Amino acid sequence: MNILITGASRGIGAAAYALLKSRGHDVVGHSTRGGSELIGGDLEDSEAPSLIWDAAIDRLDGKIDVLVNNAGIYETADETASDEDWQRAWARTMTINLQSAADLCRLAIRHFRETGGGRIVNISSRAAYRGDSPQHWHYAASKAGMIGMTKSIARGYASEGILAFAVTPGFTVSEMTADYLEGRGGAKILAEIPLGRVASTDEVAEVIRWAATEAPPSATGAVIDVNGASYVR
Ligand code: NAP
Repeated sequence: MNILITGASRGIGAAAYALLKSRGHDVVGHSTRGGSELIGGDLEDSEAPSLIWDAAIDRLDGKIDVLVNNAGIYETADETASDEDWQRAWARTMTINLQSAADLCRLAIRHFRETGGGRIVNISSRAAYRGDSPQHWHYAASKAGMIGMTKSIARGYASEGILAFAVTPGFTVSEMTADYLEGRGGAKILAEIPLGRVASTDEVAEVIRWAATEAPPSATGAVIDVNGASYVR
């Protein structure tokens, strides 16, 4: 399959990129600045999604079968911030985590209509259902938005062979969470996870791989938790 995955430079995205490639898929990865293998594009820039999409189409000989929206940020903003900082933080998180993913989904759906179908896998978060810390309302809201978007796509386009899945990791070892896990909050986080440990990027990558390439069509619209039973809904 021909696959585009955003945020493939590190963490969950890098693990999914490597896994999908190792299974013989043609995979194009992306990161903010790009690199020898990865397409570059800052998803805070409103033009980036279409530039990334076009570059991926070029590299994949005109056809994409799967879009994985994985890139994301986990920045802080709480109620004590200035109005300007608060609104800037919300706009930045919603743009990178949700709007850019929506833009890419839209491009994918238009393309899939021409090619006879395809799959979208959106990487959301446990925070979509459980909420997050007082510093991360905007993060939780962006990830909840992704769930509503994914389900709407699944319901709206299944009859055209377009499938959509969301993956909702809990704490996963990556740069995004390293400080939390190494700091004083680490023991508390582990105590909340019945499995006794946070997820590995390889575990989340395996769920992404399954949704992207193997999940049966009737599973479209599913949201798959990967959180060690730390939040069971
Ligand atoms: P990570 O290690 O921080 O990596 C984030 C990825 O997103 C990187 O490839 C980064 O590219 C890219 N990215 C960040 N800002 C970008 C921007 N403005 N434009 C383009 N690309 C950008 O994150 P992760 O922990 O692997 O998380 C991956 C996804 O899983 C995210 O959507 C996150 O919200 C979600 N998630 C993670 C956890 C967790 O515990 N780790 C839990 C639930 C959900 P650069 O290298 O170029 O910056």
